[in-house]
Amino acid sequence: MEEANIVIIGAGIVGLATAAKISERNEGVYVFEKNSKYGQETSAHNSCVVHSGIHYPKNSLKAQLCVKGNHMIYEVCEKYEIPHKKLGKLTVAVEEKEIDELERLMKMGEENGVEGLKFLEKEDVKKLEPNVEVEKALYSPSTGIVEPDEIMNHYYAEASRNGAILATYTEVTGLRKVKDRYEISGFSLGEKFNVKVKTVVNCAGLYADKIAEMLGIDIDKYGYRLHFCKGDYFRVVGRPPVKMLVYPVPKGPGLGIHLTPDMAGVVRLGPNTYYVEKVDYKVESSEDEFREDVERFVPSISDYQLVPDFAGIRPKLQGPDEGFRDFVIKNEADKGFHGFINLVGIESPGLTSAPAIGELVNEIYQNEIKR
Ligand SMILES: Cc1cc2nc3c(=O)[nH]c(=O)nc-3n(C[C@H](O)[C@H](O)[C@H](O)COP(=O)(O)OP(=O)(O)OC[C@H]3O[C@@H](n4cnc5c(N)ncnc54)[C@H](O)[C@@H]3O)c2cc1C
Repeated sequence: MEEANIVIIGAGIVGLATAAKISERNEGVYVFEKNSKYGQETSAHNSCVVHSGIHYPKNSLKAQLCVKGNHMIYEVCEKYEIPHKKLGKLTVAVEEKEIDELERLMKMGEENGVEGLKFLEKEDVKKLEPNVEVEKALYSPSTGIVEPDEIMNHYYAEASRNGAILATYTEVTGLRKVKDRYEISGFSLGEKFNVKVKTVVNCAGLYADKIAEMLGIDIDKYGYRLHFCKGDYFRVVGRPPVKMLVYPVPKGPGLGIHLTPDMAGVVRLGPNTYYVEKVDYKVESSEDEFREDVERFVPSISDYQLVPDFAGIRPKLQGPDEGFRDFVIKNEADKGFHGFINLVGIESPGLTSAPAIGELVNEIYQNEIKR
């Protein structure tokens, strides 16, 4: 292949959902993936939670795409019988002073259009989850869990049916603009390749900043440099301590160590939050940190054995001690790169938002080709 219409770099859940959507109406859609299979990186190392949208400021892309994506994910799951469970989530205030934070989340959730939110008093929480001991909780009924692999299988199947082609073992190492085309170079199954294409969509996850940089975009000037922010998980052995998702009020750059049941009911604690220099999925934290955090609202966790499970790495735009950063999803036409659709900082809630991101990228693409 020497010419293509559109190349999507990266076959995580976002690249696949985007390929499925764009290929509905367009031909010549390719997805280049450096690994042997799709969905081996961040999309395979996360909490598998369909978020409701209470954590993100009004009008941010994270808020809009999360709320929309939440509905879309459940719709796809129901239509195609993909395993999922709308378990509901409790965000808990352990002390009186955390109640203000619950109220802030409730307000933000309502502003974002999250439905069914309500406060639960101590006794009501106890009835739902006997092991959870808190002052008050915010209940969000639309939060649930999915199996990201199954959703990716679905989007891969849709994209393939529409004629999109996934090239695995295909790593992009060079990108430049030549007149009105982009020249992508790299290695496919160990052999050098070069292809000219009209539109490039950057869905490269942890390396999205590197792809933008290859094109000559100054990633420091535009605030696109990514920071790797790791989170470890521990598995709770034995009878599950909770049935629902249970989160503390967030502090710092993560959502706080929470309890998440998986599709089999096995509960995990995590993820914690620490910045790292390189990608390494080994669990490095001590279980004491997890026990201490969770004991505050599930005291009986001290009776359970915890075993290191897995880790994930967030592609964060926000460095240590920095404030909220939104997803970057845009056509970089204003920088002279018409048709370079750039997605940077697609951390949580990227799994939930993926189908909505696919629709947004498709809109950007349709506007680009009308030009
Ligand atoms: C610890 C943790 C917990 C999370 N929990 C949740 C959650 O519960 N709910 C939620 O909504 N979100 C969650 N997220 C976020 C969610 O997992 C991500 O936002 C989402 O998976 C991002 O998908 P992606 O396709 O953008 O990236 P990825 O899955 O990383 O895919 C990017 C792909 O690009 C490929 N690639 C990179 N560079 C190149 C190149 N040069 N050439 C070719 N291919 C390349 C990679 O190999 C990879 O396959 C969590 C994230 C983490 C880390």
